[in-house]
Amino acid sequence: MPELNLILLGPPGSGKGTQGKRLQEDFRLPYYATGDILRAAVKEGSEVGNQAKEYMDRGDLVPDDVIIGVIAERIQGEDAADGFILDGFPRTQPQAEALDQKMEELGREMTAAILIEVSEEEILRRLGGRRTCSKNPSHIYHVEFDPPKKEGTCDEDGAELIVRDDDRPDVIKHRLDQYHEKTEPLIDYFEERGILRRVEGEQPPEEVEERIHALLATLRREEEMEI
Ligand SMILES: [Zn+2]
Repeated sequence: MPELNLILLGPPGSGKGTQGKRLQEDFRLPYYATGDILRAAVKEGSEVGNQAKEYMDRGDLVPDDVIIGVIAERIQGEDAADGFILDGFPRTQPQAEALDQKMEELGREMTAAILIEVSEEEILRRLGGRRTCSKNPSHIYHVEFDPPKKEGTCDEDGAELIVRDDDRPDVIKHRLDQYHEKTEPLIDYFEERGILRRVEGEQPPEEVEERIHALLATLRREEEMEI
């Protein structure tokens, strides 16, 4: 079996995290969401972890070379020998170039960068409809997809439901602008390298998952034909 080295791309609200976890289970590959692995590296106290901690403690952004160090440490681990799934990295072109370089050093190749495409309108609908319990933030509802029994009230504890700052339309817009500005060049970059694969992401998660499986199966067939 060839390796399956994947990057997941998509705007906030595209369901990247959901698909990442599904792929992790389906293919038994480690799933690395950047925020999580930075925190894990800090906790383990590895050399790069300690470097990252210095920046995080100061409230600074962790620089590219440190993040790349952390990612490199993960993908060289035994559990990533058959492949891995990256989410949230690379986020910029210099990061993507550094990842390419690292992979080349390791004699490995990225299989695909999967872009989950969702329209801006749908993202606003998904994120903008979210309501959160004012008492317990893990009680989350959606006005359309998962409404509470009584409007504006938490089913679990009767507390008032609120719109989190993150879910305000102007904030969502800003997050989307940031995504376009930073990630669009990255999409072009993967396209030029011939590894970009687009997946229509507006259907239910099971269908998006099926589409990803189908495209990975196609890639495998293509690879076999090359051998
Ligand atoms: Zn509640």
